[in-house]
Formats: sequence, structure tokens, C-alpha cells
Amino acid sequence: MYNFISMAKVKYYYDTNTLSYKRIELNTIQKVKKGFFFTLSSTIFAVVIIISYLYFFDSPKEKRLKQENQFLSNNYNDLQQKISKIEDVMEDMQIRDDNIYRVIFEADPIPNSIRKAGFGGINRYEKYRGYNTSELVTNTAKKIDQISKQIYIQSKSFDNIIELAKNKSKMLAAIPAIQPIENKDLKRIASGYGYRIHPIYKIRKMHYGIDFTAKTGTPIYATGNGVVDKVSYERGYGYHVVINHGYGYKTLYAHLRNLKISKVNDNGEKIITKIQKGDKVNRGDVIGHVGNTGISSGPHLHYEVIKNGVKINPVNYFFNDLSPKQYEEILNLASQKNQSFD
Ligand SMILES: [Zn+2]
Repeated sequence: MYNFISMAKVKYYYDTNTLSYKRIELNTIQKVKKGFFFTLSSTIFAVVIIISYLYFFDSPKEKRLKQENQFLSNNYNDLQQKISKIEDVMEDMQIRDDNIYRVIFEADPIPNSIRKAGFGGINRYEKYRGYNTSELVTNTAKKIDQISKQIYIQSKSFDNIIELAKNKSKMLAAIPAIQPIENKDLKRIASGYGYRIHPIYKIRKMHYGIDFTAKTGTPIYATGNGVVDKVSYERGYGYHVVINHGYGYKTLYAHLRNLKISKVNDNGEKIITKIQKGDKVNRGDVIGHVGNTGISSGPHLHYEVIKNGVKINPVNYFFNDLSPKQYEEILNLASQKNQSFD
């Protein structure tokens, strides 16, 4: 029969035989046991504290990892946006390839099933699975793969076209391929092909050409070799000239100041003469000057490209004097839905 009194670390018991308190002497096993339970309970306590701390707060290492993860996700998003831009450029290139280059050289367009074909095999992106960012990484990888494939198909198509073009230098000289006025910084494109607000009638109307603003008297150039097909004055176009380039192509230049051009005669003298139907012109020859005749809201050149009787978007026929970057810029400028000059 013991009664324990615990006082600090020394423990006593009441000896009923001697009617006195006696000190408890622990043997070694008991000491070890006590030490063990003490260590165990403090460890459990510490673990509980640490776990609850980690549950509510990140360790510095976790914090850094989380930041790194965020950084990676953000950059993958940026990458995806950049890839989307490349896809747009590829798409433009494919459209030009199918609708212009391959048409010019009478090659069949490349079917979408080939251009847009995916990759076989479901396990291709397996290695990216199992993480929070898996979808992002997989999508990025897929897009890059698709672009690589499209570039390969595109380059094959260009090889094919180069081969076809070798024997068509006459045709290439005839097809409209430059801008009809000097436009180095591209600031002259005022309105593009498509639906635009008409400057006089103030209604939405189809605008069948591109307007270049320039001072009255600015020289206008033939955009390809050909023969002058029409020289005339009409209420809408004012003074205008049409060139027939052959191969189904015609170009129209409207709102000219007048129909006079300067020419060098057989004696080598410069003379002012009227441009006439039947005149032969080469790409880059001056065929008139910017004016404001006809229905026009200010001095400008209205330029049209006509293929087999259909007025098409001239923006795709400046390829001789545009770098890819300028082409992109000009596409942008010509697609702005501003008012036309008509
Ligand atoms: Zn116009």
C-alpha cells in the first residue's frame, strides 16, 4: 500500500509499517522506462507542434518552391501566347500559299487534312502526366509539335513552288507584286479592302480596294508588266487607269490628278503625253499621279486588284517589296475598320 507524493523529481511513499515517508528508489529498468516515455511524449508533442505549424505556415523551402511553380506556370502561359502568335503567322502563310502562290502556279492547294494533321500515338505526352501543371506543359508541347509539322509541310510546298516558278519568269514579271506608290514607312495605307464607312454616304459599304493617302502629284507606279486596258473618267473613280497584266490579272488606279504622264521619246527627250489604251507598261513605270477626282474625300490613290473579273484584296499582292515584318504590319493596317476615302 503506497501513497505517492510527487515533489519535484524526488518521489516518496508512505510506509504503513514504519509510519513514515520513504524515498522511492527507482531501479535501472524503471529509470530507462521513465526516460523512454518522457522522450516519446516530448517527441510526439514536438511533432504535433511542427505538423500544425507546417499545416498553417509554409517552410521557407516550400515558399520558394511555390514561387518557382508560379513562375513556371506564368512563363508557360506567356509561351502559349507567343506560340499562338506564331500559329497566326503560319495560318497567314498557309492562306497565302494556297490562295496565291499555288494558284498562280496552278498547283492544287494542300488539303487541311494534311496541313492540320495531328500526331499518332497516345503515349507521346504520357511523360508530362501526373502534375498540377501537366495540362499546361502537354498543351505547349502539342502546339510546338503541330507548328513544327506545319513548317515542314510549308517548306515542302515552297520547294514545289520554286520549282514551278523557275519557268515562269514572264508571268512573275506581269503579276501585280509591289505597292502602287512609294510607301517606305507604310504610313500611306489609309483604308483597306472590306466593309468600311463610306466617306460621303456615311454608310457601311464594301470597299473593293486599298486607299493610299499621298500629296497630289505623287507618282503612281504600274505594279506589274502589262498593257493599258482602259483610260477614262467616271463619276465615282474620277480619272482612272486599268492595266491588263494577262494571266487573269488587272489592276485599277483611281482618283488620278489627270491622265498625263511624262515619257522619253525616240530622240531621248522627255515629253509630257497622255496615257493611252494599248500603251505597254513595265512594273515600276509611272502611269499617273495622285489626285482627288471623282468621289473622293481627299487626295489619295484607290487601288484595286482584279483576278478573273473578281475584285480581290490587294494586300496579298505586295510581296515583292515587303519583308515578312512589313507584311504583318500592312495586314494589320489594312484590316483596321476605319473610314475609306473611296
Ligand atoms: Zn478606295
